[in-house]
Amino acid sequence: MNHTKSEEIQIQALEHIVGGVNSPSRSYKAVGGGAPVVMAKGKGAYFWDVDGNRYIDYLAAYGPIITGFGHPHIAKAITLAAETGVLYGTPTEHEVKFAKMLKDAIPSLDKVRFTNSGTEAVMTTVRVARAYTGRTKIIKFAGCYHGHFDQVLVAAGSGPATLGSPDSAGVPVAVATEVITVPFNNKEQFQLAMDKWGDEVAAILIEPIVGNFGIVEPKPGFLEFVHAMAKEKGALTIHDEVITAFRFHYGAAQDLLGLSPDLTAMGKIIGGGLPIGAYGGRKEVMETVAPLGPAYQAGTMAGNPASMLAGIACLEVLKQPGVYEEMDRLGALLENGILEAAKKHGVTISVNRLKGALTLYFTNEKVENYEQAENSDGEMFGRFFKLMLSKGVNLAPSKYEAWFLTTEHKEVDIIETIAAVDYAFSQLK
Ligand code: PMP
Repeated sequence: MNHTKSEEIQIQALEHIVGGVNSPSRSYKAVGGGAPVVMAKGKGAYFWDVDGNRYIDYLAAYGPIITGFGHPHIAKAITLAAETGVLYGTPTEHEVKFAKMLKDAIPSLDKVRFTNSGTEAVMTTVRVARAYTGRTKIIKFAGCYHGHFDQVLVAAGSGPATLGSPDSAGVPVAVATEVITVPFNNKEQFQLAMDKWGDEVAAILIEPIVGNFGIVEPKPGFLEFVHAMAKEKGALTIHDEVITAFRFHYGAAQDLLGLSPDLTAMGKIIGGGLPIGAYGGRKEVMETVAPLGPAYQAGTMAGNPASMLAGIACLEVLKQPGVYEEMDRLGALLENGILEAAKKHGVTISVNRLKGALTLYFTNEKVENYEQAENSDGEMFGRFFKLMLSKGVNLAPSKYEAWFLTTEHKEVDIIETIAAVDYAFSQLK
C-alpha cells in the first residue's frame, strides 16, 4: 500500500501544526511512529486516503461517527443549516426540540445545556457540583479520560487515599490536590478514599462503562456501591457519558445499568459528527447554572443550528428499529472471528466487547481496570495496527481505544476484517 502523499502532507503538517496533528492521539506515537495516514473522503463504513487507498473504518473519529460517513439524512440536515444560517446567537427551536429528545431518551435529565465539546460539558458538571455542594474535591477513576481541562489532567497519588499530582505540564499542584484518583472496579479502595475525604467531596466523576482504557464494564455492584456511598456522604454523582450516550442503545449507559446520576455529560455521537457537548441532570442541581444561579457557563457557538440539526438527524437514524441489534450481531461476529484467528495462530489476546464496541488487548487476562490495560503488550499492538492498516482496516492508533461499529458496517466488511486479522496474527509471531 502506497502512502507517498500522506507522507508528503505530514512533512508539511509538521512544519505548520504543532506535532503535525490537531489532537495528540491522531499521531502514531503510541504505535511505533510513522506518518499518520491522511484521509481525503469517506462514505458509509469506508474512507479513502489521499493516495486513494480504501479502509474499513473502526475508529469512527473516536466515537461520534456511529452512522458512518456522509449519511444522507445527516447531510441533508447540515445542508439546511448551511443554507439558512449556521449561527444566530439567539435561541432557536432546534435547541428546544433536541433538548427534549435527550430528556425523553435519558430519564435522569430534568434540564439540559449544550456546549461545544465533551471537555466543556464535563468541566461544567464539575463546576456545578462544586457550586451546588460548596465542596471542592472530586474523585475520579484511574485511566478514565474526561477531557483536557486542568482538574482531570491529574495522576493518581501513591495510594488510594492520597491526593493527585499534575498529569500535564501547566496544571497547578493546587488544582491537582483537589482530585483523588482510585482504581476502577475496586470497592475497597474507593471506600478508603471516601472514608478519608468523603465529607469534602463535591462529586464522583464516573465513566459508567469505560471507553478510555478500552471497553470495560463495571463489575456487578461496583457502581451501585459508588452511588450509594456518594449519597451517604453528600457528594454528587456525575456520569461522563461522552462516549457511552447512544453508543449501546437509544439512551445512556446509566439506563442499561439502572443508575440515576445527579449530573450527566455527553458529546460525540449526539452531534452527528459536528462539534458538540451537553450536560444535564436534576432540576435543583441544574438551576445552579447562570442565568438562574451563580455557576457560570456560556458559549458563542453553544447550541448552534448546525450541530443541533445534525444531532437531531443522527438520533432519528439511531431510533430506527433494529439499529443497535444489528451492531450487536456484527460485533459478536467480529469478536468470534478475532478469537478464532488468535487460537489458530497461537496469539494471546483478550477481548472486551459490549454490543458494537470492542477492544482487543494483547494480554492473557480479562481486563477490568487500567493497570491490566496498561500491562497489555503495546509493542505487539503497534505491529498489529500497522498490519491491519496495510490490509485496509483502520483502527485507533492506541492499545487503549475501542473499535466502533457503525450502522453502515455490513457482514461483508466484518468478513473482510476477520481475514485481515487472520493475516495480521499470522505475521505477528
Ligand atoms: N469524556 C470522555 C469519556 C471522552 O472519551 C472524551 C473524549 N475522548 C471527553 C470527555 C472529551 O471530549 P472532547 O474531546 O469532545 O472534548
